[in-house]
Order: sequence, then C-alpha cells, then structure tokens
Amino acid sequence: MSASTTPIIRQVRAFTVRGGGADYHDQAGGHWIDDHIATPMSKYPEYRQSRQTFGLNVLGTLVVEIEASDGSIGFAVTTGGDIGAWIVEKHLARFIEGQRVTDIEKMWDQMFNGSLFYGRKGIVLNAISGVDLALWDLLGKVRGEPVFHLLGGPVRDELQFYATGARPDLAKQMGFIGGKLPLRHAPAEGEEGLRKNLALLADMRERVGPDFWLMYDCWMSLDVNYATRLALGAQELGLKWIEEALPPDDYWGYAELRRNVPKGMLVTTGEHEATRWGFRMLLDMGCCDILQPDVGWCGGITELVKISALADAHNALVVPHGSSVYSYHFVVTRHNSPFAEFLMMAPKADEVVPMFNPLLLDEPVPVNGRLKVPDRPGFGVRLNPDCALSRPHTH
Ligand SMILES: [Mg+2]
Repeated sequence: MSASTTPIIRQVRAFTVRGGGADYHDQAGGHWIDDHIATPMSKYPEYRQSRQTFGLNVLGTLVVEIEASDGSIGFAVTTGGDIGAWIVEKHLARFIEGQRVTDIEKMWDQMFNGSLFYGRKGIVLNAISGVDLALWDLLGKVRGEPVFHLLGGPVRDELQFYATGARPDLAKQMGFIGGKLPLRHAPAEGEEGLRKNLALLADMRERVGPDFWLMYDCWMSLDVNYATRLALGAQELGLKWIEEALPPDDYWGYAELRRNVPKGMLVTTGEHEATRWGFRMLLDMGCCDILQPDVGWCGGITELVKISALADAHNALVVPHGSSVYSYHFVVTRHNSPFAEFLMMAPKADEVVPMFNPLLLDEPVPVNGRLKVPDRPGFGVRLNPDCALSRPHTH
C-alpha cells in the first residue's frame, strides 16, 4: 500500500444502542452487576441497593463507524451513548474525514488537542477511544490483517483469563485462573458491613481452595482507613489484590494504601483513569502494582500503547479492564500483560456468555479459561444486525 493508493476516510458516523452491548451496566433487573455493590453513592441509603438507581446505565452504548474510499468500513463500540455520539459527529469527525487510513497518530493528536479545552478525561475520552478503535479496525480491514499484527504481533499463543463476577467458585470450575468479586458493603454500612465483606471472601476461599486467585473490586467506594482494614483482614484469606479501593482522583490515598497493605498483596486501579498523563500520575506516585486501563475509555489502542510502555519502565503490569476483543488484541502483544479479564455477563455469573452480548457477532469467549485471539481482519467482529442502532446526530 503506497502513499498514493492509501484509502482516504470518507465518512464518520456515530450510533447509539440500548440494552447490554458495550454499556455492560445497561442490564435488566436481577443481574449480579446491579445487586448491592459498594459505590461512592453507598453513603446514601436510597442509592445503596442498585447502581442503576443513581444512573449507572444512563449513557448506553456508542457505536462509531468509519468508511474509507475503497468501501472498507471499520467500527468500534464503547460507552458514551447520545452525548458521545454528539461529540463524534459534531467535533471529532472533522479530524478524521479526508485523512489517510494509516495516519492514526496524527488523527489522535488532533482529536485530543482539539478537545483539550473541555476534554482531557471522561466522556470526551470515551468518544476519542471509540473513534481510535474504529480506526484500528478499519486499518486492519484495509490491510487484511488482525489488529494484533499491526501492534507488533503476539508474544504468546493464547490468553489466560480471570473472571469478574459474583461466583468465583463457578469460575474455577469453568477453568479460569482467578475470580474477582464485587465488594458489597461500603464504609457507611459500618463494622457489620466489614464483617460481611470478609465473611463472603472467607466463604469463597472455602469453596475454591487455597491456590485459586481471589480479588476484591471496590469500585471507588472506600477510604484509606477502611481499605487498609479490609486488606489486613483479608490477608489470611489470601486476597491477591484490592482493586480501585479509592476515588480515582485520590492519588495520595492510593500511595498510602499501597504502603499499608500486607506485603505481597497487590493494589490495582485505573479503569476510570485516562491518557498517558493520568497513568503517569499513578506510576510516578507509586499508587499501584497493576494498571487497569479500559481501552474504550483511556484513549483507545493508540494511547494504551503509550500507557503500557510507561508502565513497563516502572515494572508495573497492565491488565486492561474488560473490553472484550479491544483488549484481547492488545494483551496478546505485550509481555507486561500476562493475563486478561473476562466479565461474567450471565445474570447469575454461572455461564460464559460474550461480554458485549448481544451487540457483536463472532465475539470470542474463553473456553476453559483460555482463548486464542481469532486471526481475522481488524478486531474480527461484526455488528449484530438485530440490534437497533439509532443515529441521533449528523454532520
Ligand atoms: Mg474494576
């Protein structure tokens, strides 16, 4: 593909879709992911039982589609919904249309710097990530190669997974290497809540035996003192890591927590962090042992490559948050990403279903806790035509 024959990007389109998909919090009632999970809103009793009560599912899924002059279409999904679609159509599209499909670095830089006056993190970075992932999918399709080839090639034959969900005991039977539980009780639920948190962990340890990894995901819900007491109490139960214990802006608290936890227990965070600058803060301040960027939120693959290099130089692992194929194509190419996360999206966490169900076709799932990333162009998935897309904005 010489410069003169490189396809040019003709059009960027942004769609929304409801009900599961990339917005995996957008689930029907009775799902483990919305059953009394500790959050920063748990101090308000009326918002304690269900995260949807405070609007966890307000965004919905954002689908970005990018069409090139040779007819190739790349796409990607993330969370962002209507507001993300507006940002893509009304602002970011101008930096993409008319560009060569190869020039992703320049397009990323223009999207980020062009939105810096109101962007930097949050929904703008979700939108930039969605566009970036669609660009990588498009480039892979134009070249007829999987994204992991474009990233330098695989460093291992297959991925191994831990499972996130309410039933680590079942995850063990399904062949996963570990299970990560959502923490249920927040500091506002007092000593009884702390005892219940430790009792649930003890029950799971009893069920899975001594060697299976068990982790607690605290979803920004704790303070340093509570997180320290939880970690100390969980030491004899073999807690492997304590995840996202504090609000993402409390870098100082994370640094203190990392000094406080028992030797050998890992502190992890980063799913609500964005860009190389945010992750630089976590690394420079010694906040954690494992970075957990979400490739659909942190700035896309283009930014994740930079975050990963920075982490490698700090002896930190990068184990991306969820994100299905968008993570898999990256993880398989990195030495400092030795395993991957799988979100158990079955309502009772009792079977393996595709993470972004029902939005993608050909979405691979681990079998016996393992997965060989399919060798198909781009990210190797298709949009399910049965999912009703709407295009709320145009340009
Ligand atoms: Mg998490």
